[in-house]
Amino acid sequence: MAEVTVVGAGIVGVCSTAWLQRAGFTVTLIDAGAVGEGASFGNAGNLSPGAVVPYMIPGFMKEVPGWLAQNGPLAVRPSYFLKVLPWLLTAVKTSRAETAFKTSRAMHALHRGTLDAYDTLTKNTEAAALIERCGQLYVSTREGAAQGSAVAQAMREAAGVKIQSLDPMEIRELEPALAPIFKSGMLIPDNGRCKNPHQLVQLIAAEAQRNGASIVRGEVSGFETNGANVTGIVVDGKVRPVERVVIAAGAAAGRLSAKLGTPLPVEAERGYHITIGEPGVVPRIPVTHVDAKFVCSPMNMGLRVAGTAEFAGYDAEPNWRRAELLATQASAMFPGLRMEKVSRWMGRRPSLPDGLPVLGAAPNYANAFFAFGNSHFGMSAGSVMGKIVAELVAQRTPDIDITPFSPRRFG
Ligand SMILES: Cc1cc2nc3c(=O)[nH]c(=O)nc-3n(C[C@H](O)[C@H](O)[C@H](O)COP(=O)(O)OP(=O)(O)OC[C@H]3O[C@@H](n4cnc5c(N)ncnc54)[C@H](O)[C@@H]3O)c2cc1C
Repeated sequence: MAEVTVVGAGIVGVCSTAWLQRAGFTVTLIDAGAVGEGASFGNAGNLSPGAVVPYMIPGFMKEVPGWLAQNGPLAVRPSYFLKVLPWLLTAVKTSRAETAFKTSRAMHALHRGTLDAYDTLTKNTEAAALIERCGQLYVSTREGAAQGSAVAQAMREAAGVKIQSLDPMEIRELEPALAPIFKSGMLIPDNGRCKNPHQLVQLIAAEAQRNGASIVRGEVSGFETNGANVTGIVVDGKVRPVERVVIAAGAAAGRLSAKLGTPLPVEAERGYHITIGEPGVVPRIPVTHVDAKFVCSPMNMGLRVAGTAEFAGYDAEPNWRRAELLATQASAMFPGLRMEKVSRWMGRRPSLPDGLPVLGAAPNYANAFFAFGNSHFGMSAGSVMGKIVAELVAQRTPDIDITPFSPRRFG
């Protein structure tokens, strides 16, 4: 059987492995750490076919000062500012209406099948119980603000995303534990959740292993090529021959793509969570605080509060005050919360400045493929990204247009 080596055992890497097996390939999955301990470990678990609104949309600039305020959701570490400035300026350019609507259409194409693809992948396995089609709630303390700007609403409408507007009474009926401070709400009934993202990645990997995949622990630091193809990868200093290779290394993927002659602006957009064991109160479904931009997600280990976009560089120390802030904000949102058993975490979202992932054949090598960069939406996109990876490796035309995700788009 033809062989494929997948680098990175996050949600994208494990879903790629599972779909590649279905397409008839033998797969080796390599990770520098344990399975699922990158960004996929601690995200909020929102699975969102309806995620069609990019962060960079017309009018977003007027919100930036508020986001950057002391307790705002966006932080740029001063020592990193000049380094990340070109990335930020490119991101700002993508907020023009025409570009933003193109981004929205590409997000829709990638995200709309997420739940169906997870259903297929997890059918008849323990992992199926971790996925729930339950809807997601968005709330704001401002009247009429939960649905976002007119542009955001137009994007959802163009994509056919169903929403329900909720008044304060309806919000309380849906989630009685919420503080009575929210004046507008939006329910996206067709969105869903994952009850434990780390466990989902582990279970998909374990099933792939039962189906014959090898899981290898080791850090990939380089490649051997014959000019046209990648012939080997350097794992912990030793060369390992490969027939085909998929780079699914999350926020570190840019380092590897550069070694294959394709430098890409992958930024580690750092986020934080606290997970509260035995919290006393939990919402029934994930609730996003639209103004403060964090999510409170019921998980099978308690309540997870996740948010923040911090630009500080891949290797910088975490700023745990960001996690403490989430704890304060969550207490104001759910007054009955008990904060006795709290763990905290920092993770790196793999983010490209145009808000879209890189998904396609590597420009310089016929047998190498890129699949990374899903920023805030990698849990949602992972199941579909993996399917497309398998189609690309098998030289079949994917169901969706992948031109917007081309690795060549940054020149
Ligand atoms: C706070 C927070 C909340 C979020 N909430 C959501 C949400 O609700 N819904 C959603 O859809 N998304 C969410 N996300 C985003 C989502 O978590 C990511 O987009 C997704 O996990 C990325 O998956 P990945 O497989 O690309 O990367 P990762 O999970 O980071 O996996 C990459 C793997 O590659 C390995 N690796 C890297 N370099 C090498 C190397 N050289 N050699 C070997 N292995 C290597 C790493 O060890 C890692 O295991 C959130 C993110 C954060 C931080």
